[in-house]
Amino acid sequence: MSQYCVVLVEPTLPENVGSVARAMNNMGVEALRLVNPCDYRSDAAKCLAAHSSEILENAVCFSSLEEAIADASFVIGTTARARDRFATLVDLPQLPALIPSGAGSIALVFGRESSGLTNQELACCHQLVCIPTFGQTKSLNLAQAVMVVLYELSRVSPSGAGISDLSEREVASARDVLGLKEHLFAVLKTVGFLKEHQRETLWQSFSDLIARARLGTPDVRLLRGFLRRTELTIKRSRQQKEP
Ligand code: SAH
Repeated sequence: MSQYCVVLVEPTLPENVGSVARAMNNMGVEALRLVNPCDYRSDAAKCLAAHSSEILENAVCFSSLEEAIADASFVIGTTARARDRFATLVDLPQLPALIPSGAGSIALVFGRESSGLTNQELACCHQLVCIPTFGQTKSLNLAQAVMVVLYELSRVSPSGAGISDLSEREVASARDVLGLKEHLFAVLKTVGFLKEHQRETLWQSFSDLIARARLGTPDVRLLRGFLRRTELTIKRSRQQKEP
């Protein structure tokens, strides 16, 4: 389980962060990353962490999700929201088979207690997952959600889990995919395809498309090369038109 790290985005209750640390310790996951957290070293957090305070002590803080997952080779986002809204959302039992077996460090991202993850944050993930529920409410307590996800992942050995066609090649990192999307949007704007009021919807659609494509590092390089050449061609043709 050492390849996993847990990322909590803006947790507001120290007790929840403490309980997350305990669940991680139970399941053999040590790395905790926090985006703009509450006071996670308070007595309340330590009390719930029980003998797992070391995970709290060693937690690393970031000011955005993009920074927190920048070095992860595969990013899994969790959400209790309706499945039909996201192309890459699967139920938890399907998750292990979708993790590339060659993936190195894997980030598991969990959202705010009150509002979960934003669409922008969900768009940063390679894969989205929902814990199926059968009662009146869909949303679990944050630490319980962490526990269930880690338990499910612990049942499958990482090397045997992944889909075969990705096992031989490196999946592009979250940082590379974000760089590609930003570059793509700059070009879409230049050619007049992107209207500012459509930015969010378009970002979501392209994020879904790119996540489904499971781009490798060479794919990102190829697409960025194409985008650079497109920019250059536009620039040259504009220069030619200038008197
Ligand atoms: N009201 C929020 C729920 C937040 S619960 C919402 O609508 O999203 C806090 C976090 O726990 C979520 O962001 C998610 O990371 C995790 N979580 C809770 N229930 C979950 C479920 N059924 N499936 C997957 N993750 C869940």
